[in-house]
Amino acid sequence: MYIHLFLTDSCNLSCAYCRGKIFDTPELERDSITIDADIPVEVTYDLCDLYTFLSRDPDVVVTFIGGEPTMRSDLIVRIMEDLPDTRFMIQTNGLLLHRLPSSIVNRFETILISIDGDEEMTDAGRGAGTYRRVMTNIQHVLAGGYAGEIIARMTVHEPVDILHAVQYLSQNQDYSFSSIHWQIDANFWNDYQIRKFRTWVGASYLPGVRSLIHDWVSRMEQDGTVEKWYPFIDPVEDMLLNRPSRLRCGSGFANYTVLTNGKISPCPIMVGMADYYLGSIGDADILNLPDIPVTGHCSVCEIRELCGGRCLYSAIMEPWPPEGRDLVCATVRELFSELSDVLPRIKALMNAGTITLADFAHEKYNGCEIIP
Ligand code: SF4
Ligand code: SF4
Repeated sequence: MYIHLFLTDSCNLSCAYCRGKIFDTPELERDSITIDADIPVEVTYDLCDLYTFLSRDPDVVVTFIGGEPTMRSDLIVRIMEDLPDTRFMIQTNGLLLHRLPSSIVNRFETILISIDGDEEMTDAGRGAGTYRRVMTNIQHVLAGGYAGEIIARMTVHEPVDILHAVQYLSQNQDYSFSSIHWQIDANFWNDYQIRKFRTWVGASYLPGVRSLIHDWVSRMEQDGTVEKWYPFIDPVEDMLLNRPSRLRCGSGFANYTVLTNGKISPCPIMVGMADYYLGSIGDADILNLPDIPVTGHCSVCEIRELCGGRCLYSAIMEPWPPEGRDLVCATVRELFSELSDVLPRIKALMNAGTITLADFAHEKYNGCEIIP
């Protein structure tokens, strides 16, 4: 089981597509959803209860999240020292990674670092100086001996040129990420009416994704490199195996979140959605947590087994009106259409022995939402 551990709600940034939106986006209210507004900012449960809960699953993978989890570097160190045999990952903005000792950092199997492209693009969304501090800290952890996976975790929205951003992150003089994931900031907030989403999707995002897919396959053809670009590699592995997919982030069946009060939710974003709490660490069995399927419009979608549903939270809350939601789904359809088109090129490379199925292997449910 994959468990996201919410260490704190505090964050040292106020990104344009996250906390920065709180004051200029109308609140999303749904009469049918009970919101628990009393989630503590910091962890209030007894860590022994957490350890007992986790201990039932010898294969558990724990991912620290927040807020910004490194603001509780003390808790990270304590939990990792108390659980020397557990697998750990972290989702961080990277600004405080230097506060963690190398002995701790080097135990992370994966570090997901939020970054949105080049310096200008990252600082525009995350604040001046962010890009430089992130890159400095990546060099710091590498100098400390870190050899695990570092994933660039991008949030993309209207100003972002996805083609430039991904190509830049994959090849630049500061640090070239071999693992990149992005998710579109779409259908998460009550902001459709104030966005220029349709124009951006048609003029920039979709042409960029098409070019990126061809770039991805061209790199395979040139030297057999299969870049870990998660929106491509995870679906294509399934397409090669003819394997249907459930929700690709794993929320609600393979991936659950422990909140600061010890309650368990299906997904890190569903903090406070009390109707969807699945018990707490004191009484739940990690190996028998309830299954929360994606329902609604996804149930009748003809590409459901390819897409998997994109987002459980969005399917429940429906932050955007149907026209906005359909636009997002159109990007998903286009993604799969383009990936299907390049599948013969990929299969030809496999037949020639240039690449193998193993080149598409990756850790499932590692915090990448997969479908942008
Ligand atoms: S394309 Fe849209 S409707 Fe279809 S499964 Fe994905 S999110 Fe659901
Ligand atoms: S894609 Fe949706 S359901 Fe999955 S982790 Fe993100 S917000 Fe949660």
